[in-house]
Amino acid sequence: MSSSQQARAVVLEAFGAPVRSRELPVAEPGPGAIVATVELAGVCGTDVHLQAGRLPIPLPVVLGHEGVGRIAALGEGVTEDSLGTPLAAGDLVAWGSSISCGDCFYCRDAQEPTLCERRRIYGINRRADEWPHLGGAWAEAIYLHPGSMVVRLGAGTPPEAVIALGCAGPTAVHGLLGVAPVGVGESVVVQGVGPVGLATAMYAQLAGAANVVLIGGPASRLERARALGVGDAYLELDAQSPAERLDAVRELTGGRGGDLVVEATGVPAAVAEGLELCRPGGRYLVLGQYTDHGPTPLNPHLVTRKQLRVLGSWAFSQADYATYLRTVPQLAARFDLPRLLERFTLGDAQAALDAARAGEVGKAVLVPDAG
Ligand SMILES: [Zn+2]
Ligand SMILES: [Zn+2]
Repeated sequence: MSSSQQARAVVLEAFGAPVRSRELPVAEPGPGAIVATVELAGVCGTDVHLQAGRLPIPLPVVLGHEGVGRIAALGEGVTEDSLGTPLAAGDLVAWGSSISCGDCFYCRDAQEPTLCERRRIYGINRRADEWPHLGGAWAEAIYLHPGSMVVRLGAGTPPEAVIALGCAGPTAVHGLLGVAPVGVGESVVVQGVGPVGLATAMYAQLAGAANVVLIGGPASRLERARALGVGDAYLELDAQSPAERLDAVRELTGGRGGDLVVEATGVPAAVAEGLELCRPGGRYLVLGQYTDHGPTPLNPHLVTRKQLRVLGSWAFSQADYATYLRTVPQLAARFDLPRLLERFTLGDAQAALDAARAGEVGKAVLVPDAG
């Protein structure tokens, strides 16, 4: 941050156009709020979709819904983090991306805060041309409103590990530990080896799955998963026909198919195949369809005949984010998370977006103080 209390930020001003670097004013934190300097900010597939205009959001917006940073200033009344740990300037913290309203049908009655009708999301629906301007993590500083989930990071929770899975980590927590819990000894099949697929496979392993089969491509992504220690078996998408894949999955799962199959591709056609890959009586979790790519043919007979439970999972709650942070030390002990990182400066944010779109990098992150 410059001394004049301006912060550099990466702003999406128009859909389909390159992101811009802008100087925005740093607001004093009001009661209950926090201003943090950003140390690492994640680039996610959603950011690619936002830039392309595939989601209805207000512009301009400072992008970045994944961030880790340090407390710069605490608003009146803020003495501890969301979990009760004392907070002081200079402390390393991570924050959840969204604040649900607490008052709508979904928050109050249905107890499903991810479905909140008025969810405020950093880096997605916070306007950059309105106070307090710095509403995303792709910036030197971010304004964290009252009600944000802010958690001080202990020594066992390195920021590189937290940001390596970004929103994919808590997304997998919501899906795999909440909506469709994985059982000890189960066979889990994961369609897709992007960030959500990898995080899903990691949590399946952490939760005691006996066998995690990864399906995806290109081969380099499967190789990256193997190098990280994620998954037990790997099926390359382009190397087999769907029928061959089905045979291979059955062979790897005792002849029956997966107890739990998780879709983490974002490709509608994957759902038809996923239903085939479930064992009778199994569960199918559709976790990766974050953008509406339209309808797709599938065979509903499979759902009835195999008595499948087909489930969806949308985003993650603040509680899921806390669970994610609590389990980062376990993930980091088992998987080489920092190995996923590819660092970019704020000025190279567009290059980072392009790399994420091309699937060339494990996890693109922006480092605001790197120039
Ligand atoms: Zn994301
Ligand atoms: Zn709500």
